[in-house]
Amino acid sequence: MRAGALAVALILAPSIFAPSVFAPGAFAPSAFAQDLDRYQRYQQTPAVLAHYPDVPIALDAPGLAPGRDSFTSDEELKGFIAGVARGSPRIVAGIAGQSQQGRDIFYLVATAEGLSDPAEIRALGRPIVWLIGLQHGNEPAGGEAMLALASALARGELAALTERVTAVIVPRANPDGAAAFKRATANGADPNRDHLLMSLPETRAIHRLMESLPPEIVLDAHEFTVGNRWIAKFNALQAVDALLLSATHPMVAPELTALAETTFRPRIEAALQAQGLSTYDYYTTALNNADKTVSMGGNAPGAARNTFGLNHAVSFLIETRGVGIGRDSFQRRVATHYIAAKAVLETAAARGNELRAAIDASRRGAAAAEAQITVAHKLATRPVTLPMRDPVSGEAKPTPVEFRDSRALASAVTRPAPAGYLAPELGADAVAALRLNGVALCRTREAAEFDVEAFAVKERAKVEREAINPDQALKVELARKRVALPAGTIFVPAGQPAGKLVALALEPDSAGSLAGAGLVAVGEGHDIPLYRLGIAPKLAPAEARDVTVCGP
Ligand SMILES: [Zn+2]
Repeated sequence: MRAGALAVALILAPSIFAPSVFAPGAFAPSAFAQDLDRYQRYQQTPAVLAHYPDVPIALDAPGLAPGRDSFTSDEELKGFIAGVARGSPRIVAGIAGQSQQGRDIFYLVATAEGLSDPAEIRALGRPIVWLIGLQHGNEPAGGEAMLALASALARGELAALTERVTAVIVPRANPDGAAAFKRATANGADPNRDHLLMSLPETRAIHRLMESLPPEIVLDAHEFTVGNRWIAKFNALQAVDALLLSATHPMVAPELTALAETTFRPRIEAALQAQGLSTYDYYTTALNNADKTVSMGGNAPGAARNTFGLNHAVSFLIETRGVGIGRDSFQRRVATHYIAAKAVLETAAARGNELRAAIDASRRGAAAAEAQITVAHKLATRPVTLPMRDPVSGEAKPTPVEFRDSRALASAVTRPAPAGYLAPELGADAVAALRLNGVALCRTREAAEFDVEAFAVKERAKVEREAINPDQALKVELARKRVALPAGTIFVPAGQPAGKLVALALEPDSAGSLAGAGLVAVGEGHDIPLYRLGIAPKLAPAEARDVTVCGP
């Protein structure tokens, strides 16, 4: 369970920065200067750039030093984190794990007491705010802002906040991508879409740390493309400074969405607007230039923003105007992330009780398995005029588009939650993925026959996991059946705090399910070795004890 044993070594700053760990030359020097040329694909005109001046706030981050023409290298990142931790009694730094190419994934924890033990940090009872940068390696402003935030929490304007909130900062979640200035991890996968399947060491590292320090609020910092396909489709540039979106999957608890939208978001927007920074809902558009639909950030349950929301955190994506424009207006982009994160920390500090109440309601709902499982849905599309900019003159160019709204369902396929799922062939990868999302697994006590609902595959579709709203990979038929299963068969209760993720991972026709992704093999005869147990009425507790052995 989430509050279980310490999964990640939290190490005090001086020891982790010992020379044996950080031997000079142990890491290849980064090639950011060259990469800047390669990735500065779009040159904005002076008239456009004039709309994006620096924000008049002081930010302590290596990539913003005067005269810089490159982003912060891995070596500089390590040095900066070591310096922040060494110079402050509030900050503890550690390593959450390693990337595919062996780079360390650093984190910092800020508490007034400078605590390192997760149990002691949790016992403070303060809201735990997670701030994540650089899941995508070519989106540097968020990562840079995380360093400025760490410095401000350590000894700057945010230090006093550490008495009221705990900040967990992961400045560079995808260090290989950052070193190569590429979106994906070294094997070409998108870590932002991997939070349900957890196939990547980078995602697993984050979730191991989350297991010991469960987030109550997450801010996931990204950047969006300014020109490129927006020019091709609309002959217009992205204009807005900050695009924001909370978790939108339809199974996210309404209490969390309400708190995100009515308490946190207005304060984030007010803080940004006070500095002349514009905001809008996060939206994007497919890479295919023939498809001009503009979509709000999608509802894939494995996209970080949604996974965190389904696991009971107030969860925001924030994106700045930054991909494909090199270091253009970099200070402004970093300042935007910094100001938004500061507003989140301040709001969490001021609204701790409301936050706790919404999270408790969300957890109770999951534990009672009271929501219908939304296995598929279609989104409504409506006309919207986006605030874009003329690429030459820089003037406002309001641009009408067809807009797919992730919060407006045109249709939905739902089914009631079972008491749980019997999974006789669940492999080690699938078990690890579930456990890392806080899922409790049980096993059957003895060989037995069970009356279940079984799934048979009716249709298979090739699904692009990168799609904004991936469709179902499998369509299934349910049939009542009696199955004989050996002792020790895995039973995953649906009614548990991580129950929403259980359902979305194990219902085979949910987008991004384990069976859809191939982590549960479809057998001959199109049967899937996953069974819904105790459909109605649900298993009584005594019956459940009889059937299964839960816990360690
Ligand atoms: Zn991104």
